[in-house]
Order: sequence, then C-alpha cells, then structure tokens
Amino acid sequence: MKKLHFGTAGAPRNPENLSTVDGIKRISEIGLDCLEIEFVQGVRMSKETAQQISVVAANRNIRLSVHAPYFINLNARELEKIQASQVRLIQSARAASLCGAGDVVFHAAYYMGSPSEIVYDIVKKYFLEVIDQLSKEKISINLRPEVMGKLSQFGTLDELLNLASETNGVAPCSDFAHWRARTGKNNSYEEFCGVLAKIEKRLGKSALGNMHIHVAGVAFSNKGELNHLNLQDSDFKYEELLRALNDFKVGGILICESPNLEDDARLLQTTYTNLHNKNS
Ligand SMILES: [Zn+2]
Repeated sequence: MKKLHFGTAGAPRNPENLSTVDGIKRISEIGLDCLEIEFVQGVRMSKETAQQISVVAANRNIRLSVHAPYFINLNARELEKIQASQVRLIQSARAASLCGAGDVVFHAAYYMGSPSEIVYDIVKKYFLEVIDQLSKEKISINLRPEVMGKLSQFGTLDELLNLASETNGVAPCSDFAHWRARTGKNNSYEEFCGVLAKIEKRLGKSALGNMHIHVAGVAFSNKGELNHLNLQDSDFKYEELLRALNDFKVGGILICESPNLEDDARLLQTTYTNLHNKNS
C-alpha cells in the first residue's frame, strides 16, 4: 500500500515565524512527514535556500510540495495578466524543482462572468503553454490545479478531472474542504468514496496512489467558502474522509490548512493511523 503523508500548509505555527528549513525540522520533530511550501504572496527564494531545503528535507524523509502565488488567473481579461500568471506558475515550478518538491498546487482562474466551457478552453490553452515551457526546461513536476471553494472560481472536480485527463503530468489538488463548501454537501463517507471512485475512473488507479489533498474545517455560505476553521469547531466529517482514503488505499500528501495547522495535522494523522492499523 502506498503511504499517505501528513503535514502542514507552511511551517508549523509553534514556535512562531519559523523559516522553511526550520519548519521542515519542526515537522520531523513532531512526527509529521510532509510540508507544503507557501509561495502564496510571490516566489522569493534564493537558489542557496532552495538547495538547503532540498537537503534538509531529504535527510529527514519529509516530502515537499509548493503552493504557487494566489495572483494567478489564466482567464484574466488582459493578456499581460495572463502572461504574468504563467510566469508565476513557471517560477513556482522552478523553485519547487530546486527544493526537491514533487508538486505545484495553484488556483487556476476565475470565471469572470463567462460560462464554464469557454473558461475551460481558455485555461487549457494557457496552461498547455506553461507545460510546454517546463518541458523545454526539463522540469518534471506534477502540476496540481486545486478544487476551489467559491462559485466564482474555476475548479470544480469535473473541470479539473477533464483538464487532468487531457494533459500529461497533471492531477488535481483534491481540496475536500473547498469541495464541501462549494457544493454544500460532500461531507459523508459515501460522498467521499464517490469523489475517490470518480478520480480512479477518470485518471486511473495510479492517481489514487499519489494524491495531493487539502483538509481543514470550513465555514461557507451559498456562494461557497468563507474561511477555514479548526476541525473541532466545524462539522467536517474528517474521520469519514480518512476512512474513505484508507479504504481506497490512497497514497500521497495530505496537507492540513486549519488555522491551528500542526494540531489538526496530527489529529488527522493519529486518527488515520488508528484506522489503518485496525484494518490491516
Ligand atoms: Zn490553495
């Protein structure tokens, strides 16, 4: 069975203000085993730091992924904003590659009032240019458009499965909190199994063996996601999700995005390990 790793979005909060290198060390100290490096405000990292990160993570067996800047919209009205979005994505992939990270997670686009089918074609076109550039640079990395939580954002499960099945090296970042917020449902064992079965059907079993997952408690309105919550303060049925992940033998990375980061990451890890040991 493929291993499922548990970690945090950015360095753990306690102690405060850890660098990425110290964050990786802290992840290892507290028994977690992956970290998503947050470039959400921009990709600013020297080559030296990236190489140091790569060594520290490899020595401690910590798997890394990267979250690209929030300021990406492959469906922007102005061409220059689209090109700037492509640059941010490429910069994220270059930095991820130097850090030894295997995945780049990103928010692909906003609908900007256009229908899904039209936005899909636009996003795909500009996304393929990014993939082309990365392959020219011989950067081999999983690009992970994220399942998004707001109705204004491109990124339903189906849109991303279509995109992934039509492009090599692409699989969604399955954000179960976002999907819950966006749909107002998808918060039960049966529904979580439905999502996983759909991923398997569209992308094959290998996609389940190497997933990139986001989990958090979440508050939402009829327009979708409002904000993240700690799991204990939300109604998110994380035990049912973990049971589904275990039953589908899911491997890869599970990143916790609750405000209390490492506390919920460890809660998820412990709950999963207990389930897993009981069933194996
Ligand atoms: Zn995200």
